[in-house]
Amino acid sequence: MPSLHQPSTPMADPASADLAVVGAGAAGLYAALCAAREGARVLLVSATPLAQTASYWAQGGLAAALAADDSPERHLADTELAGRDLVRHSAAEILVREAPGCVADLQSLGVRFDADRFGRLALGLEGGHSIRRIVHAGGSATGRRLVRQLSALAAAEELITVFEGARARALWTELGSSGGQGAGEHGADRQGTGENSLPAGNACEDRCRGLVCEDGRIVSARAVILATGGAAALWARTTNPPGSQGIGLLLAHATGARLADLELLQFHPTAAIGVPGREGFLITEAIRGEGATLHDLRTGERFVEELAPRDEVSRAIQARLRETGAEAIGLDMRAIDPAHFPNVVAALREAGLDPARELVPVAPAAHYAMGGIVVDLNARSSVPGLYAVGEVSCTGLHGANRLASNSLSECFVFARRAVAAALSEPPASSPTAAETRALAAISASPPATPEIRAALWRDAGIERTGEGLERLLSAPHPLARLIARCALARTESRGAHLRLDYPERDPALDLRHAVVGGEDGVSWEHWE
Ligand SMILES: Cc1cc2nc3c(=O)[nH]c(=O)nc-3n(C[C@H](O)[C@H](O)[C@H](O)COP(=O)(O)OP(=O)(O)OC[C@H]3O[C@@H](n4cnc5c(N)ncnc54)[C@H](O)[C@@H]3O)c2cc1C
Repeated sequence: MPSLHQPSTPMADPASADLAVVGAGAAGLYAALCAAREGARVLLVSATPLAQTASYWAQGGLAAALAADDSPERHLADTELAGRDLVRHSAAEILVREAPGCVADLQSLGVRFDADRFGRLALGLEGGHSIRRIVHAGGSATGRRLVRQLSALAAAEELITVFEGARARALWTELGSSGGQGAGEHGADRQGTGENSLPAGNACEDRCRGLVCEDGRIVSARAVILATGGAAALWARTTNPPGSQGIGLLLAHATGARLADLELLQFHPTAAIGVPGREGFLITEAIRGEGATLHDLRTGERFVEELAPRDEVSRAIQARLRETGAEAIGLDMRAIDPAHFPNVVAALREAGLDPARELVPVAPAAHYAMGGIVVDLNARSSVPGLYAVGEVSCTGLHGANRLASNSLSECFVFARRAVAAALSEPPASSPTAAETRALAAISASPPATPEIRAALWRDAGIERTGEGLERLLSAPHPLARLIARCALARTESRGAHLRLDYPERDPALDLRHAVVGGEDGVSWEHWE
């Protein structure tokens, strides 16, 4: 990644499209395909090879109420229970109602989900779900199958142009009457406040018209959809690929878009630890769904309900590790048929560990960002023309603790909505010469150094204190500082956010989202 004060890059002639989509994970690929299906021209900007998206790594699957004895209402109840009184009801309701339709659409696009011999979808069970509702492909190879199929379709689609290996460096905003800085400078604090303010109220007068890549290419479009994934790789111990460092959040923040709930980072309970070459390798919850158990490695004791929601399981493991001084607990999957989870078993065996004979050492690792760019129910951010879908967005539907496998479903449900809304934005226009010069002068976001990642793990890890978070406020990385701001403001423990100095939940913060806009503090919002 270029340094913060890199010299300007030469500008190429702007490319124009109906939609610019940044990121080629599940959310970005599906958004591009949905737009092309509507006859729109799409420019898809993808920084990394496909194998480096979190989507490719997904092992569990998509949650959708498809079983005969399941219902959207039941899926909604499980989502709200896991989310710890912070789930935005309207967004969760959309998810549970529209997820089954997205599964059907993916099947029509050629994604082959696992089925029984009668052709009925085989549904898995994961933590926090009261019933089997996880649709998967190739056992634990769901993400790989999805991403391969969707990227093959995108590559073959004439209406989609892919800028492969291109990284968005900044968003291009057209100056509005507010006199904002545009072209990547911090605009005024546009955060809405108040009891019922909509999360993406159009307080911003500037409009997003495109983006500039690190190689100098400019893209102009009716709208930009950010699908750049999450931020969990900012933490030293993570299940995520290295690219998941929240760059999209910084791109959006620089245009004045509002971000929320950055303190709510889910720690997955079972990432491999001390397994050579596989540090942080995620071992899907679906394996516990099939009966694998968790044990204290010294006493053999089972000490936690394996299928409780993730925050509960991670917290119990962390407490046990602190009490015993151990590095890991043991996952016993010896009774599980290896054929059901072929890629997990193969990865562990390659690393010299045979899960059919021995316990797998595991511990929690940073996994999923519940917070992100504040969006409305059609994935619009607070900056007109700028949309966000997938893990980079904050629809509010995951509350303080995402229910397993709701994130892939969210990628598809809200990508479809984003496209429908974005295609009605005004047509693209080209940047003026002055705007082109301004775009050329914008610096790239600074990379996260190993020191910053270690600081986040230490000061904003599973257990946090005011003292550690204060220290993080002066970290040399803008996103680390924003995370610290939100985490300091949330003076309570809720879901994934555990403050040792505020161990109780504060009912006054029920359904209150921590929103950051400009350089100032945090505002609390209730989203309808
Ligand atoms: C190991 C693992 C297992 C998981 N299992 C499941 C599961 O079973 N079920 C489930 O629901 N969820 C699961 N999750 C979470 C889920 O996979 C993610 O939330 C989801 O895939 C995110 O998709 P996305 O499209 O938003 O982002 P990603 O898939 O991360 O894609 C982001 C893309 O943006 C690109 N990008 C980033 N910055 C830029 C830039 N500046 N310019 C251009 N491109 C950029 C990246 O290169 C990448 O292509 C898992 C996550 C991990 C890490």
